Formats: sequence, C-alpha cells, structure tokens
Amino acid sequence: MPKPALDAGAKYSRVMLKISGEALMGDQGFGLHPPTVERVAREIQAVHDLGVEICMVIGGGNIFRGLAGSAQGMERTTADYMGMLATVMNALAMQSALEQLGVFTRVISAIPMDQVCEPYIRRRAVRHLEKKRVCIFAAGTGNPYFTTDTAAALRASEMACEAIFMGKNVDGIYDSDPKKNPEAKRYDSISYDDVLRDNLKVMDASAIALCRDNKMPLVVFALNEPGGFRGIMAGQGTYTLVHD
Ligand code: UDP
Repeated sequence: MPKPALDAGAKYSRVMLKISGEALMGDQGFGLHPPTVERVAREIQAVHDLGVEICMVIGGGNIFRGLAGSAQGMERTTADYMGMLATVMNALAMQSALEQLGVFTRVISAIPMDQVCEPYIRRRAVRHLEKKRVCIFAAGTGNPYFTTDTAAALRASEMACEAIFMGKNVDGIYDSDPKKNPEAKRYDSISYDDVLRDNLKVMDASAIALCRDNKMPLVVFALNEPGGFRGIMAGQGTYTLVHD
C-alpha cells in the first residue's frame, strides 16, 4: 500500500500537538527536566516559525495520575483534580520555555485560576491563535474520569484544528511494543475502528472515538528526534496516520 500523504503539499494552518507529561521529565523518572522542556519548546518554535497556529495539550503523568492516586486509597475525583493541577504546572513550564525563545504563549485552563492563567473561553482562544500565540490548554477537560487525550481531541475540534499530532517516544503505532518485540510492525496508516478493535495504545478509547466522530486525523510521530515535528508537518519522516 502506498504511504499515505499527510496532505499533498502539506500545508497546515492550525494544528494540535499532544504530548504526555512524561515527555518533559527527561531521564529523571519524575517531574520536570528543564533542558528537556527547552528542547521540546525548540521543536514547537520551529513549527511556529512556519506560521502554523499551534494548540497544545500536555499531560500530567510526570507529576501525578488520578488512577495511581486512587489505587493508593485516595478518593478518585480528588486524585483526578490533582492530576489536572499537574497539567497546569507542565503548561506553565512550557510557556516559560517558549517565551524565553520569543514565542508568545497563553496558558488556558479548563479550571479557572485567574491569578495563574486564563480561563477557557473558546472565542478568546481562537483570537490568540489568529495572533499567532501558542495556546496551551491546561487542566484537561476540567472533569474527573477523563484524560488529557480526550482534552486534546475536544479542544482540537473546538479550535477547528486540521489534525492532532501525538508526539511520542516511538515513530508511530505498532502492532506490538517495539521496545519489547524487535519484529513489531509499524502501521503507515490505520483506521480509528482498527485502533479501537485491537486496543492499540495510542490514545484512550473515548479520545479515539471523539476523533473518529469528528473526523479529526491523528498523526503519531516521534518527538525525540531533533527537527522531527517540523519534518512531520512537511510529510517527511516516519509516522502513523489514523483516519477514517
Ligand atoms: N485528568 C482528569 N481529567 C481530564 C484530564 C486529566 O481527571 O480531563 C487527570 C487524570 O487523573 C489524569 C491526570 O489528570 O491521570 C494526568 O493526565 P494524563 O494521565 O492524561 O497525562 P499523560 O498520561 O498524558 O501525561
């Protein structure tokens, strides 16, 4: 099967970048690793320099996950709110790194915390994007029992993004874990339904279903390759495209 073009000519005007909190922790195993945050910020700057409007959702798993908290006896909704607060910390760290590179950025939280960042007002966020400010959507969806994958799918649709770019530490979706199985096969493209049927670990099921229902293409690529994000935007490098 021919490799699907991300887009002939690959001209994106507005995209969503989703990264997990773990993408910011470097080799530390926990928390934020400032040189790693700066490296990711440079990847974003390179795409911003192309004039692309950038939305971002960053997870919180490097600091706190609701499920892990509840497994240790904490009330689930409280644990989930802690997870959402963790995403705000990551968003602020990324804002700081981006602005040090001269990229104007707004952190927009689903849970209002006016002294820290802006509350989510859709039309205001769209205006920021039009002014070429990177918008980092923090605090997930604002609801427990969800994940930041769902937040990325939701905000990408609300902001009319053309695609969601999932920055991972592998260059796409494989039929089994490529770190454990050297024979693992990478898909060039795959349908939403196949991802759901085979329970492939790319996004949680509700987020995949939301992408499918809104026909939001998903591009899974490796964020740890320098220049990778900019290259992928031009349809270069290896990735998996999830579509209808
Ligand atoms: N979370 C939530 N609602 C949301 C988004 C996130 O309750 O809409 C909580 C949930 O506890 C989750 C944590 O925030 O475990 C961190 O987000 P996530 O696990 O998606 O982060 P990632 O794995 O992408 O780093």
